[in-house]
Amino acid sequence: MKVTRILYRGSLSSCNYACGYCPFAKTTNTREELDRDRDQLQRFVDWAADCRQPLGVMITPWGEAIIHRYYRNAMIDLSRMDHVHRIAIQTNLSGYLGDLEDALVDRIAIWATFHPGETDLPRFLDRCATLQRLSIRFSVGVVGFQEHFDEIAELRKRLPGDVYLWVNVPKSSGIDYSDEELRFLSSIDPYFRWNLRRWPSLGAACQTGHTSFTVDGEGDARRCHFVDDVIGNIYRDDIWSLLKPTACPNSTCGCHIGYVHREDFGLDQLYGENLLERIPLTWPKIDFPMTDEPTSIPLTPLRPIR
Ligand code: SF4
Ligand code: SF4
Repeated sequence: MKVTRILYRGSLSSCNYACGYCPFAKTTNTREELDRDRDQLQRFVDWAADCRQPLGVMITPWGEAIIHRYYRNAMIDLSRMDHVHRIAIQTNLSGYLGDLEDALVDRIAIWATFHPGETDLPRFLDRCATLQRLSIRFSVGVVGFQEHFDEIAELRKRLPGDVYLWVNVPKSSGIDYSDEELRFLSSIDPYFRWNLRRWPSLGAACQTGHTSFTVDGEGDARRCHFVDDVIGNIYRDDIWSLLKPTACPNSTCGCHIGYVHREDFGLDQLYGENLLERIPLTWPKIDFPMTDEPTSIPLTPLRPIR
């Protein structure tokens, strides 16, 4: 069965955290803006209910979404649609989670990011424990700033072993790791090297625009969050007839939610049906080819075992 993956990003643009590198740090939306975002999300949920195509949906908000009850309600509703195989969301995990118990747990998943300085480890681990109590699958991630290495190590130590901890590299900050730092980060996240650089991508075969696309609050669909061209509008067009394989038009791609769709990377074999929530299929068993020495990370990723 072919599941189309949709990344939804509405007009929300606010967050309760204050991460220094983020444009949404400590921003707020007005009541009117939140009402608009809620109406947009409901329209998308209604469209998803009617479309009857096998779907996987990932909410990738600007800012923090799940703190708003209407996002939790939308996830619950989507999880209860027979043709929606996955509903996942990116979150800082700061908000109330209890009502997600009404979701179908085999369909819902969470991409949670730990932000040292914005919350503390006990509080974050408590939220992870809540997800476990609810039997909701989740991955945890951190941004690999050197000043957070102690907390990252402690987080790995205290997270249950069956929870995958990924590391994103703050590439735009021009970070440059020493060999020792690379080894440390690879020990935390054995798949970290995929995120270490922006990959040359112009002309690369990429599933976005074919088996995956993004939708904004107005229903405009784009192949991915990094290419502005609009494919069509899910509310006005027969979007399914507009999806087709096309090569990447960008010179590079450096974000997980983009490059996982590269056909030559084969990362669908690493994540399988858990690709949206970034949980390796076999975690904690590692059976994807890796380099032993992080400094020898090749420019072109290794081919996966087929
Ligand atoms: S939690 Fe995420 S959205 Fe909020 S300020 Fe931090 S990085 Fe930005
Ligand atoms: S490789 Fe990245 S930037 Fe290019 S089309 Fe795919 S997701 Fe978009």
